[in-house]
Amino acid sequence: METYDVIIIGGGPAGVSAAIYAKRKLLRTVLISKEIGGQVLLTSNIENYPGFVEKSGIRLGEYFEQQLKELGVEIVEDMVREVRKEGNSFRAICEEGREFLGKSVIATGGSSHKKLNVPGEGEFFGRGVYVCATCDAPLTKNKTVAVVGGGNAAFQSADLLARYAAKVYLIHHRGEFRADGLLVNRVKGHGNVEVMTNVAVREIRGKDRVDSLLLENLESRRLFELPVQKVFIEIGREVKADYLKGLVLTNQHGQVIVDRLQRTSCGGIFAAGEITDLPYGQAIISAGQGAVAALAVFDYLSEKKS
Ligand SMILES: Cc1cc2nc3c(=O)[nH]c(=O)nc-3n(C[C@H](O)[C@H](O)[C@H](O)COP(=O)(O)OP(=O)(O)OC[C@H]3O[C@@H](n4cnc5c(N)ncnc54)[C@H](O)[C@@H]3O)c2cc1C
Repeated sequence: METYDVIIIGGGPAGVSAAIYAKRKLLRTVLISKEIGGQVLLTSNIENYPGFVEKSGIRLGEYFEQQLKELGVEIVEDMVREVRKEGNSFRAICEEGREFLGKSVIATGGSSHKKLNVPGEGEFFGRGVYVCATCDAPLTKNKTVAVVGGGNAAFQSADLLARYAAKVYLIHHRGEFRADGLLVNRVKGHGNVEVMTNVAVREIRGKDRVDSLLLENLESRRLFELPVQKVFIEIGREVKADYLKGLVLTNQHGQVIVDRLQRTSCGGIFAAGEITDLPYGQAIISAGQGAVAALAVFDYLSEKKS
């Protein structure tokens, strides 16, 4: 079986960028992913990726794929089920049974937003339902919006949205917040933010776009409707790192802990993008980390050789 210099897991911005840099360092590279683009494929409105002015995430994914193909990167359409350490090498075992041996691994499986699982959430996704305030806050100018959640991500979103929107409701199903106290106070200090606790979202309603939320007061069990034009769901993320279980250290959120060269706690395994403990989830940041990971792999392999 051929031994690759590097096995890249994931085809989002981090994985694609890692593959570009690895290939240009003449590393024998394989990228394993079901699709190329990752989460950018879920949006039609990217306005903050430098040099990309077309906005469509699907288009950006197509450009990613075109660039990989022009460079001759080997792409395997599969999902990695498990990574095993075998001496100085790593074996990536895929769901469809194929196996790949590598001297190093760059894990870029990313993450996905947790869902509320209420009616209207899927129907209005991207048409009033959003998951990333940093990406979509400019759409809320002078609008009435809601943020759902009680952790730091929800409060950071509310803090930003309060600067664009006319009114921001922060809706949380518990009585207390997981977010840092200072951040909570900052958000409460915005004159246009109203915090609602012990309130759960039961439905997202609208015709073509979101018009209102059906909410339940969990203390009185009373249902009531709140008119809003946009809702941001910030109730946590699921990190796609199961295949690294037992190999690398993760934090309490399951995110892979890396240093500034994207090295994990296991020599030879690097990680980049939203699979890591990076604080900001943005395509450009994942791409930057992917580039660092590939350059660090090059140095790691060169040092091992000498
Ligand atoms: C609706 C929406 C709108 C957004 N808008 C913007 C925006 O305007 N601007 C911006 O900068 N960012 C935006 N983002 C965020 C941006 O898309 C992410 O920050 C970025 O895609 C993260 O890149 P990543 O490579 O770290 O992970 P991901 O994009 O999550 O990619 C992970 C990749 O790994 C693959 N994978 C997962 N598990 C496995 C496995 N076991 N084996 C093989 N492959 C696997 C996935 O299929 C995927 O290809 C948006 C996100 C969403 C959801």
